[in-house]
Amino acid sequence: MKETREAEMILSAINKNVADKKWKCIIENCEEYAINSHIYQQNGILNSVAENGHLMEVKPIDIFKWQDKKFHEITNFKRIGIKQAFSYPTLCNHHDTSIFLDIERHPIDLNNYKNQLLFFYRTLLSAKRKTQIVLDKETRITKSQILASNPYCGSVINMSLKNIGVINDLLVRHDAEISRISNDILNDYKSFTIIKFEYDLVKAYGMSMNFSPESQNFVYTNVFPYDGKTIVIVGSFTEKTDLWTKQYFDTWRNLTSRDFEIKLTTFLAKNSENWGLSPKIVENIKAEDLNKFLKLKSDIVTKGMLSDIELILDLGYQMDYNFFAENNYGS
Ligand SMILES: [Zn+2]
Repeated sequence: MKETREAEMILSAINKNVADKKWKCIIENCEEYAINSHIYQQNGILNSVAENGHLMEVKPIDIFKWQDKKFHEITNFKRIGIKQAFSYPTLCNHHDTSIFLDIERHPIDLNNYKNQLLFFYRTLLSAKRKTQIVLDKETRITKSQILASNPYCGSVINMSLKNIGVINDLLVRHDAEISRISNDILNDYKSFTIIKFEYDLVKAYGMSMNFSPESQNFVYTNVFPYDGKTIVIVGSFTEKTDLWTKQYFDTWRNLTSRDFEIKLTTFLAKNSENWGLSPKIVENIKAEDLNKFLKLKSDIVTKGMLSDIELILDLGYQMDYNFFAENNYGS
């Protein structure tokens, strides 16, 4: 047991070092240090979800602490200050402000192609930074002499080595996508298909960058409240937009309020990694619905595989998943 204890200590030290690391700005050749960049701006978006400056977000606990934990200990809602809303050390202050100026000041023209693309760009940059953070952690694990000599850590190290391969492939794809978006922004190209939908206000926000299972193309979804409405922006690189993606876009189209609530809830549970709700919505969720939701979320986090997620989703539809619909929000 001494070895297990030792391994836990090393892993926890690695986590701490990774969390404390100061990252440079993600923009090429920028030498400035990154500040914590929010994916959604506080003013006009996050503050219309918040109550008394607070939001509810779900943050899974660290992978090394899953053992022997119950699902609601792995994922649960946490009340956080608006400044702590999901953010990564992505951009320096200058780039964070200058690149996104048009979606940071009001009114935002949400029908403008470039503005729509800027929402995806923020998601993408933050996904890349998050991937780099995971890479840093996995690399430290594989380089630790103490872990390497620990008989209990063989599988952890093998898993990290495997992850590093996957992560490096992903980073190459992130970079290709970053150049596509930068090209559009700099040259006024329109190489992405982007669709915007508007629904009644729900005090929730979420974003995702998923893969099309057909083309492996990135598919973006941004959901956020703006100016009394819930805005949904979906899109992908046109040249690689396949049938699956087009059908996915259509799943957001022409929904009744109730269908939109189901769609949104499922999206938050299944696809959206970074998202939050108004504290009032969470307070009003029935305990048993909350448990079902957290159980599903925890299964997705711990099992992770896309096929598993689809399987769980079917169960999700059979369970009564529309707790938004049964509670008052935003009206
Ligand atoms: Zn910079």
